[in-house]
Amino acid sequence: MDATKFYINGKWITPESTQHLEVINPSDEKGFSTITLGSQADTDKAVSAAKKAFPAWSASSKEQRIELLERLFETYKARAEEMAQTISQEMGAPIDLARSAQVGAGAAHLKNTIRALKSFNFEHPLGDHAPDNIILHEAVGICALITPWNWPMNQVMLKVAPALAAGCTVVLKPSEISPLSAMLLAEMIDSAGFPEGVFNLVNGDGAGVGSQLSEHRDIDLVSFTGSTRAGKAITIAAADAMKRIGLELGGKGANIIFADADEKAVTRGVRHCFANSGQSCNAPTRMLVEKSVYKQAVETATMIAAKTEVGLAGEEGRHIGPVVSEPQFLKVQALIKKGIEEGATLVAGGEGRPEGFEKGYFVKPTVFADVTPDMTIWSEEIFGPVLAITPFETEEEAIELANDTLYGLTNYIQTSDKEKAHRVARQVRSGMVEINGKSGSAGFPFGGMKQSGNGSREGGVWGLEEFLEVKSVTDW
Ligand code: NAD
Repeated sequence: MDATKFYINGKWITPESTQHLEVINPSDEKGFSTITLGSQADTDKAVSAAKKAFPAWSASSKEQRIELLERLFETYKARAEEMAQTISQEMGAPIDLARSAQVGAGAAHLKNTIRALKSFNFEHPLGDHAPDNIILHEAVGICALITPWNWPMNQVMLKVAPALAAGCTVVLKPSEISPLSAMLLAEMIDSAGFPEGVFNLVNGDGAGVGSQLSEHRDIDLVSFTGSTRAGKAITIAAADAMKRIGLELGGKGANIIFADADEKAVTRGVRHCFANSGQSCNAPTRMLVEKSVYKQAVETATMIAAKTEVGLAGEEGRHIGPVVSEPQFLKVQALIKKGIEEGATLVAGGEGRPEGFEKGYFVKPTVFADVTPDMTIWSEEIFGPVLAITPFETEEEAIELANDTLYGLTNYIQTSDKEKAHRVARQVRSGMVEINGKSGSAGFPFGGMKQSGNGSREGGVWGLEEFLEVKSVTDW
């Protein structure tokens, strides 16, 4: 693959821009590929291809779209190992995690989208009282899809699959830090035989292609996953043309552990926080523990952190890899320092690289106890393997602490008392709640409240509806 090219109108083409960026392997800090950062002319070309393809694609039959998406699913499965190697190299996920969760998430979202599409009714009466009032669900139009680097195929597929399933045409701008997995997906889309112009890919940064797409007059919808900072910039840029926008943003999830939780609750919570080197928007980064079991929980968390191995992304095993980039490494280091300075009790990890590493963006698995709401590490999304633990005395206090954040993506509850779990689940302000370590099933709507999103949801039927307009017609 010549990674400097863009995929526009069914072909790999040489970009207009000559500005390049190295893709860095976070395990050794070495560049291993080079991409082009697109210019306005490249963005315009891709949007124009998507615009030209829209009338025919939006009028295609559901069966046609199912057939193409199923072909893509087969190709994706056949090239899974290549995808895993690419993701592992570009963003540092250990290869076993890349194979299972990173690549697996992409496959699962594609499969669930196909399932949702098969059962979706694009045309139905308003109700028995008005059989001649027809509701038509139609493709929104030309969509810009802007994605981050932390779960590249998870996030790209959560947008590409439902957009194409709905009959939209798209321009994808993957993260400039992890662009190669998206380019591999473009190759798969090409070989699956989607009509030219239906899917386009332009690489670029936020200030360039990202902003150009957000402002573009011919873009009808921007679907974005990334930081709350960029989500706000996109909202402002898209406002002038009144585009629809879907935002999946940051998080600072609370994991409420009651004294009656199962014995593995703390271990599970620490491992979940450290997974993907802590680079998940829905990571349970604030562990709230009922006072009577607090001391024990801190001891367990300390022990689990000490046992968490750190290793190269290319090596097999259950270790955690580096964080993605130098800026991310420095940001995590600065927040660990801040935690110490502001008086949190450091019980595991700390500043600097783990022993044995002189290179690579490796971070020590770190646990802070006695974290209070006035501390920076309580409120800021760290996006590294850093856990904050805080005690609580009553159910009310636990809920108040959990809700003491600008974010509202996922909260976690650990208790053997079902009624209590339900009570708390209703009162925490987040788009998702996971009880006793049970993650969401196929088609589970993913999205957040407050500054974690703007009401949009991804996955399954909800994900499909994000890319559809509702048209009501009388006297059908
Ligand atoms: P980021 O916001 O810096 O970048 C994400 C994408 O947006 C990239 O493609 C980037 O080039 C682009 N971008 C940046 N600024 C832009 C702008 N002004 N206009 C248009 N595009 C712009 O985020 P990141 O560092 O790549 O990813 C980490 C963040 O993503 C974290 O905050 C994390 O919580 C969040 N995230 C959220 C979810 C979710 O579903 N809620 C999932 C994964 C990650």
